[in-house]
Amino acid sequence: MTTLIDGKRTAEEIRRELGAAVDELRRQSGVTPGLAVVLVGEDPASIVYTRNKARAAKGCGMRDDLFRLPADTPEAELLALIERLNQDENVDGILVQLPLPGTIDEDRVIAAISPEKDADGFHPLNVGRLHLGLAAPIPCTPLGVTVLLDRYDIALSGKEAVILGRSNIVGKPMAALLTARHATVTICHSRTRDLADHCRRADLLVSAMGRPRVITADMVREGAVVVDVGINRLDDGRLVGDVDFDQVAPRTSAITPVPGGVGPMTIAMLLTNVFELATRRRRGL
Ligand code: NAP
Repeated sequence: MTTLIDGKRTAEEIRRELGAAVDELRRQSGVTPGLAVVLVGEDPASIVYTRNKARAAKGCGMRDDLFRLPADTPEAELLALIERLNQDENVDGILVQLPLPGTIDEDRVIAAISPEKDADGFHPLNVGRLHLGLAAPIPCTPLGVTVLLDRYDIALSGKEAVILGRSNIVGKPMAALLTARHATVTICHSRTRDLADHCRRADLLVSAMGRPRVITADMVREGAVVVDVGINRLDDGRLVGDVDFDQVAPRTSAITPVPGGVGPMTIAMLLTNVFELATRRRRGL
């Protein structure tokens, strides 16, 4: 029997729980966690993402602020805004939507966000803390994957986990999280020889390549758990994952769909990070 891992329902549950926690925090201490979202430019997908993030924060009872800057904003102006937000007592989490226009140095911008307000967990200090096993905001998508697996009681200790993709936002932090949970982790990428061979050894296969439906049934071991992070738009407008879902699902013990799997968890984890940052920064509450 295959379990369909329902990210949409789980994310809704988490957002409800967070809403209650935010109410409680406000009642007890008068604090309302605040998220500042910064968007530079007019990229249509980024406009939708940032709007959804700000709305989701408001939906949980948090303060939300969306700062929209034109594409030709000088880097110094963006850095000045981030510094203002770093100093703003009402802001607990700062998120700068990526990618930034080519004229702006993304690394410099990420490093300018106060590590104590780093809602995405991308600041180099927090990346280091994650790898050292210290408390830190964790990149939302891989955090969402581990929370989903936990909520479905999928054990990780001793499992062969194979991650497809080594980006800083998904693959690498995913590997750190699964290693911390005692899985034996392999990371594959575009130079990996015989990807299918690695996939077939996986008890847990996490795909984050951004390649539509390239994971086929012959690449998946009977009874494996398959998590599909990929989001790919086909020419006909449909969204699909990296996994050929219809073919692969019957072989698995559990699988995430696309859409409705990992995607909805990402925003829920962003809000979780903001809540954690708010309570940590205002320790003593
Ligand atoms: P990325 O930065 O483009 O990284 C893709 C990774 O996949 C790279 O490490 C690349 O290898 C590897 N790769 C690409 N083609 C491959 C192939 N044929 N065989 C083996 N490895 C291959 O992408 P990303 O930002 O991590 O995102 C990955 C996917 O997840 C995208 O579809 C994205 O839309 C989706 N995503 C979803 C969410 C969500 O909320 N669900 C969040 C973030 C991303 P190299 O390093 O060698 O180039």
